[in-house]
Amino acid sequence: MSADPLAPTGKPCAICGKPAVEQFRPFCSQRCKNVDLHRWLSGRYAVPAVEAEEDELGLAEPDEAPPRRRGPLDGA
Ligand SMILES: [Zn+2]
Repeated sequence: MSADPLAPTGKPCAICGKPAVEQFRPFCSQRCKNVDLHRWLSGRYAVPAVEAEEDELGLAEPDEAPPRRRGPLDGA
């Protein structure tokens, strides 16, 4: 009875400030846990990665997709 995964930890979520639970502590949910993980990874890999920048640009500007990104639709 002491293994309730949703039992409040008595501490606020490190992300959104809501009451954290045992299952996801120190967060309130899997979502906030993922947010923290993403932040951590972003910081860890916050280096001049050319590949990552190109990928982000491609997603932001689909109308100007680089020609090197060929797909089956090009008839290649
Ligand atoms: Zn939260």
